[in-house]
Amino acid sequence: MAEETIFSKIIRKEIPSEMVYQDERVTAFRDINPQAPTHILIVPNKLIPTVDDVSSEDEAALGRLFTVAARLAQEEGLSREGYRLIVNCREHGGQEVYHLHMHLLGGRPLGPMLARRQ
Ligand code: AMP
Repeated sequence: MAEETIFSKIIRKEIPSEMVYQDERVTAFRDINPQAPTHILIVPNKLIPTVDDVSSEDEAALGRLFTVAARLAQEEGLSREGYRLIVNCREHGGQEVYHLHMHLLGGRPLGPMLARRQ
């Protein structure tokens, strides 16, 4: 059994967040440490620790991440100029919270996709 993270408590509304969307499959809330004018996390309600733990049963929830991302991008006024969706996986991907989530970032030009090597 995977260990719950703070995101499960946010989904159950046991701790506060700036929630912008919730349905039976996914929850979206603003990142506490925003990296762009819009920075929203979209999270499956079911605890899936990493992309590596995804199974075919999860396809409906994971597809919903994209439809909700597009809807929120529209609401945030990002659709025309564009935005970025990021899913980090484990150490090399820079994952900090082990409850799979999609970052929706936008509101300014986001620069190159990866930091350049030194
Ligand atoms: P990642 O590095 O992809 O695992 O991203 C984790 C993200 O969760 C980071 O951008 C954090 O700022 C964000 N985060 C951590 N705790 C909270 C919280 N309580 N509410 C909102 N965002 C959070």
